[in-house]
Amino acid sequence: MPARPMDRRDFVVTSGAAIAAVSGPPFFRPSRRDHDLIIRGGTVFDGLGRPGIERDIAISSGRITAVDVRIPGRAAHEIEARGLAVAPGFIDIHSHVDGSLRSDWRAESAIRQGITTIIAGQDGDSRATGAPDDSFAAMLREVEGLSPAVNMASMVGLGSVRGKVIGDMDRPATAEEITRMTAMVAQSLADGACGASSGLEYTPGGFASRAELVALCRPLAARALPYATHMRNEDDRVLEAMDEAIAVAEGAGCPLEISHLKMQGQANWSKLDDAFARVAGANQRGMDVTFDRYPYLAYSTGLTNLFPIWSRDGGTASFLARLDDPGVAPRIKAATLAKVAGLGGWDHVEVTSVRNDADRPAEGQRLGSYAASLGQDPYDTTLGLLRRSKGGVGMVGFAMSEENLERILAHPLAMVCTDGSGYATDGPTRRGSPHPRGIGTCARVLGRYVRERKALALPDAIAKMSSHTARRLRLRDRGRLARGFAADVVVFDPATVADVATYENPFQYPVGITAVVVNGVVALEAGERQGTGRGRALRPS
Ligand SMILES: [Zn+2]
Repeated sequence: MPARPMDRRDFVVTSGAAIAAVSGPPFFRPSRRDHDLIIRGGTVFDGLGRPGIERDIAISSGRITAVDVRIPGRAAHEIEARGLAVAPGFIDIHSHVDGSLRSDWRAESAIRQGITTIIAGQDGDSRATGAPDDSFAAMLREVEGLSPAVNMASMVGLGSVRGKVIGDMDRPATAEEITRMTAMVAQSLADGACGASSGLEYTPGGFASRAELVALCRPLAARALPYATHMRNEDDRVLEAMDEAIAVAEGAGCPLEISHLKMQGQANWSKLDDAFARVAGANQRGMDVTFDRYPYLAYSTGLTNLFPIWSRDGGTASFLARLDDPGVAPRIKAATLAKVAGLGGWDHVEVTSVRNDADRPAEGQRLGSYAASLGQDPYDTTLGLLRRSKGGVGMVGFAMSEENLERILAHPLAMVCTDGSGYATDGPTRRGSPHPRGIGTCARVLGRYVRERKALALPDAIAKMSSHTARRLRLRDRGRLARGFAADVVVFDPATVADVATYENPFQYPVGITAVVVNGVVALEAGERQGTGRGRALRPS
């Protein structure tokens, strides 16, 4: 784990003591400090979608204590923000950064783009399940103990719950198993989970029937917390998958969050109007349906996801064995080739990571050209990579439309997610060739989609990354710049903010994000990391 730099306050105390020791009389006069931190003169966006106004912000003991034209008095530290935008720290409604907090507490890819809270436990996969030996309370305590740079709240993953009770098998749950799984979801919510997620294109979560999902989502209703779903399909049957998602939430009586909404594959781009109509229809009959999206045209997942879910029944070993079984191999190949054709061909698929060291040259390569360079058929190349990495190969698929992306981001019910993993330009998380969304998303929304393409207005973009998300997860004291709220703040330059990371070189931090404050403590200032992690485990209220 990277060493923690000295905290700003620790530094003041230590250096003061050292000087006192050599110079005799106490170096510090007892001085009255009115605030821990003041951010001076920035254009303050409250997070609710209102235009920015010039204000000072005072912070003490981790809370915002004042937002005013001119705040008198002194602070232990001041940040000059004249000419810059000041916004609530961004809340990432669909994050995979939880996977690397243990190996790198800094969460650089989040902090550097202004994210101060991640919502983890996505796509049906959470680090706790609500079983007696695997409780949410213990998991959240562990996260708090790691003292990461960002706050974290987590959903309970319905795939993880199913895996715990049933394993990797493709079979219906018994009534007794459904009762047990539902109790685990209820226990997780009681212990602080902020929703329940599913990943229906993944195993084992995708083996759940609609009725099973309805039962497991029922405990969400009383708490008005969302069922968030990576739907069963995002390409040729995306509308049918939306119908299922809406039916599950309606059956359970809970809010619905459609994760990373997209119409994948050019043949499906025209379905967006129908998708929006389904959301509007559900809301008109009293449901509460929203969605989120990352600002990129490529998605990212495991390479096994190109293969039909029935071929993955029983886990990786069974999957790899089926690839060699002449009885089913031709059917698997036909389904996979159809999926790839829908994406636009093998050069729309890029390898992002491999587990087998000898295949590192494949990382960052398009499968079509990579196979050609080896003189191989791309399907055979794909199977070879999967076999040698025991299924552990990541991919990026270029399959979405720019026009649709702008319409989705601009939709009043849309929030912004990264769907990204945690990584840094140095340390143990600099690995493979991850999708740049993990490091660039918020800066890309503010730079490319607000400033350059004017797809949405700045106050709205900020709201989609702060108050809307906080309200969705019932994080009552987050996501706004107002007195009494937790002091999570981002300062950026609207004229220059931009993402830098690309698919070819994802290890580059955004520019124009000048300061980030987490729970009242400076995490980034003048583009440099500061202090130690002050992130907390958050629970809905
Ligand atoms: Zn997903």
